[in-house]
Amino acid sequence: MSTIFTKIINGEIPTDTVYKDDQVTAFRDINPQAPVHVLIVPNKEIPTVNDIRPEDEQLIGHMFTVAKNIAQQEGVAQNGYRLLINVNRDGGQEVFHLHMHLFGGCRLGPMLPRK
Ligand code: 5GP
Repeated sequence: MSTIFTKIINGEIPTDTVYKDDQVTAFRDINPQAPVHVLIVPNKEIPTVNDIRPEDEQLIGHMFTVAKNIAQQEGVAQNGYRLLINVNRDGGQEVFHLHMHLFGGCRLGPMLPRK
């Protein structure tokens, strides 16, 4: 069940960590899609949004607090940014350890590619 993100959280793989506490680890995406692209990851192994349980509500809320603090830290809070969570195949999820993307540092364009 563990993914590469557990190895990153445990410090077994070097990564560009921007924030860490006992609940959440945030690090720069290896393949950034924007000037600022940070992944906010719960230390607990939750595969997808579908697996969030009522007892995780505080943790999920904490992810948002961490996200807005990182946006401030990275200097994108004022101009704006995007928080995104992909879920399963149709959502484009590749790593099955819940994570929130924080994109910023440029005009991000439409939410979805226009068809
Ligand atoms: P998903 O498509 O699952 O929402 O996003 C997974 C993200 O994790 C992708 O943007 C991908 O570039 C990133 N990623 C995958 N493996 C690694 C890794 O080993 N290190 C880092 N920093 N990011 C990774």
